[in-house]
Amino acid sequence: MDSSSRRQAWVLPFALIAWLPGCSSPSAQRAPSSGAASVNPITIDSTEEQIRQAVGTARVGSRLTPKSWPNGARMAVCLSFDVDNELLQRANPLPVPLSVGEYGATTAVPRILDVLDRHNVPATFFIPAMSGMLHPEMVPAIVSRGRHEIGVHGWIHEFWPGIADAAEEQRLLTQSIEYMTKATGKRPAGVRAPSSGFSPHTFDLIRRAGFLYDSSLLAADEPYEIVSNGQPSGVVELPISEVGNDYVYYGETANGSLPSPDAVFAIYKAEFDLAYQERTMFILTQHPHVGGRRSRIVQLDRLIEYIKSKPDVWFATMEQVARYVKR
Ligand SMILES: [Zn+2]
Repeated sequence: MDSSSRRQAWVLPFALIAWLPGCSSPSAQRAPSSGAASVNPITIDSTEEQIRQAVGTARVGSRLTPKSWPNGARMAVCLSFDVDNELLQRANPLPVPLSVGEYGATTAVPRILDVLDRHNVPATFFIPAMSGMLHPEMVPAIVSRGRHEIGVHGWIHEFWPGIADAAEEQRLLTQSIEYMTKATGKRPAGVRAPSSGFSPHTFDLIRRAGFLYDSSLLAADEPYEIVSNGQPSGVVELPISEVGNDYVYYGETANGSLPSPDAVFAIYKAEFDLAYQERTMFILTQHPHVGGRRSRIVQLDRLIEYIKSKPDVWFATMEQVARYVKR
């Protein structure tokens, strides 16, 4: 996005802002343009103190890559799936766009579960409560495998900075936690903000809700402790990357656009290879209705196969990694 369109985006009405971010590119997020929680921009007149305050909500603290991973592994691999399905079409809930997302539940999630079963590897699914409600068979199918984790991903995949009301944001987060606790029989240990949208209140709400870890930020290639306003928070960050996300390549229309899945595989492989050398971790982020299309899931299968061909890789849920690195 160029600077003039960025300025235009800044003044878009709130309803449109709430629609703009899919689970796409966190760096493309706009600040909310209305409401009490809008963020003070950093300007040439900002003092050092104001700048420090502006950037201080959720920063990189202690690096948490352990000296050794469990059983002498070189690194950890986390496969994560943001099960957004129909909820990226909230502003346009017509049958055809909804069907693009519905595919995630009817076809892609079962297909992903099959691939994971075949390789006998765990994964972490971040599921908005409403995705679970629309497809009540989905969460039990994931839970029944016995090795996957389910984390919080909002109520209806709402964009938290667009809510502009801490109490309302708190209510939605609490509802989402309660729904997932009931649906899975276990309180979720982790959260990924829908569209990686953190409002100025979000981190505090996450910390106070007692989450072990967050997986929304992008500030490193390894686990770290989040420092908030200068204070170590005790919350582990398992950072994602746009490079390791299917959405940025294929977009949300699943219309068969290039790049070819082979090219995307080559990028994921290169990301994994360096993580293997660095002995840290590799997190892949896929959206079932996007990455679960036939030509694309073949590449996921191939990627898992490639990773499994390397010795000493620990496939784990994000909760397992967070618990291990927090020790
Ligand atoms: Zn999402």
